[in-house]
Parts: sequence; structure tokens; C-alpha cells
Amino acid sequence: MNTCTTIEELKSTIHASKTKGKRVGFVPTMGALHPGHASLIELAAQTCEKVVVSIFVNPTQFNNREDFETYPLTMDKDLEVAQHAGATVVFAPHVEELYGGDLAVAPVDYGRLTSAYEGQKRPGHFDGVVAVVRKLFSAVEADAAFFGEKDLQQLAVIRRLAEEEFAGLEIVGCPLIRESDGLAMSSRNVRLVRESRQAALVLHSWLNRIKKEAGDQGDVQTLLRVIEFEAAEMEGVELEYIDVVNVASFEPWNDGPIGPEAFAIVAAEVGGVRLIDNCALACS
Ligand code: AMP
Repeated sequence: MNTCTTIEELKSTIHASKTKGKRVGFVPTMGALHPGHASLIELAAQTCEKVVVSIFVNPTQFNNREDFETYPLTMDKDLEVAQHAGATVVFAPHVEELYGGDLAVAPVDYGRLTSAYEGQKRPGHFDGVVAVVRKLFSAVEADAAFFGEKDLQQLAVIRRLAEEEFAGLEIVGCPLIRESDGLAMSSRNVRLVRESRQAALVLHSWLNRIKKEAGDQGDVQTLLRVIEFEAAEMEGVELEYIDVVNVASFEPWNDGPIGPEAFAIVAAEVGGVRLIDNCALACS
């Protein structure tokens, strides 16, 4: 596995593969790799001869300074995880390499995809995500890029970015990986103290209740209000939003029958750690 820190090194490492017509897959990450990230790399390695993994904690997508400053950094372990999962190149640039000295990013308006839910709760977040992913896509020039459904709204934003600016780049959505007790894997989970780790399971249980209600053709809207009410009574859990949306548009799901595009989404701060989760409501 090659490791590079500059775009020039990266391009020359990939160049030979490209000229031989090899398929290049790209998995962008912010490091602190866990089995969720590894699953993306493994999927990429199944269909791509060259798999580039970027490790870069992108300062422009953090709307909360403390979150950025305390983001876990585990580079040595990350290199092992990436290699073991099938990465052939790790690109780990410094901030200056991608941004020069200028961290200002252009605002992005993809309608509700960038303004609702995560976009509303984390102002500027998707501006930073789009800015960095655009830079990374331009540097790697991959054939396919792999993103987790864990960050469901981000995946929709990236699909739109690719549609508008990177024709020919395939965006592959990959399944959300959970701990055995149901907690969605996240680099931020290491920050949960024991009680909060336990309390965080409520997100998954809310999603399961919504899925069951939808499967029973019950009243999902009323259940959402009940959950909001219950959450307001809970200590250490600050619910930010819980809703059922169309995964392509992030419009709220109306009262129509549940289809494959209906997803329940949730964001909450648990013990001071912001967590997101989601699940498809149609029976699979
Ligand atoms: P991050 O390092 O958190 O920016 O995530 C990098 C990529 O890994 C994104 O495409 C995430 O959606 C994906 N990812 C993070 N956690 C998970 C998970 N639990 N399951 C699947 N993909 C994930």
C-alpha cells in the first residue's frame, strides 16, 4: 500500500493504473477508521483494482469548533485497517495541500438536500463537505466513489454534486454497519462515556419502532410526535430531529404508502456527542 500526502504524489501513484485501464475506486474518510469504513473499502476492492482511501479531517465541514478539535486521530491504526480491508493507496494530505491558506468555502444550494435536517442543524456543514469532496474527486479522478448510507443526507448531496460536476463518476451507496447491540458505528462513539453509550441505543430503538409502525400500516406521524415527547423527558438525550423522508429529495414523507424511498432519520446529542442514524422503512 502506498501512502501519499501531496496531490502530485497521488496522481503519479494512480497514473500507471489509469493508463493500464484499471478501475480506480475512491473511499473518502476522516480517519478513526472502524468496521463501517472498512466495509466501504472492502466493497471498493471487490470491483476496483486500485482503491484510494483518503484520510483527512476536513476543518470546513465542522460547524462546532470543539467537535473538530476533539475529533479522534488514529493514523497508525487507520493505515493498518485500510490495508487490511484492501486499500492500495492512502492519501492523507495536510490542510494546506487542499486549501492553501484559504479556508473560505462557497455556499452550496441543492434545495432541501443542503438546507433541511443536517443542513439546518449544522449551518455550513454541507458547504464544507462539497468543497472538500470536490477537491478530492478532482485529485483522485476515480471511476467510482463509495459512501456510507450512515450519512444518508450526505450521500444524496454527493450524488447531486457528481451529477452536476463529475459526469461518469459512479457514486456507490454502501450499507450502514452497526455494533452488535444496534448502535450505528461512528468515529465519535469513542467519546461516549458508559452511561451515554447505553443511552445512545435509544436512537436505534426509535427507528425500529417507526419501521414496525410503518410495516403495520399504523400512524407514523403520531408515533413521531410521541417519540419527540418521550425524548423531551429523557435526561442526557437532546433530540434534534426525527422524521420520515424521501431519501432522494429529503422532502418529508407524506401520508402515502411506504415505498423503498421512505427512510426514518434521526439526529440527537447524547452525553454531549452528536449522533445520527437512519433506516429504510420498506420491508427488505
Ligand atoms: P467519516 O470518516 O465519518 O467522514 O465517514 C467516511 C465514510 O464512511 C462516509 O461515507 C460514511 O458514511 C462512512 N461510514 C461511517 N460510518 C459508517 C457506518 N457505520 N456504516 C457504513 N458507512 C459508514
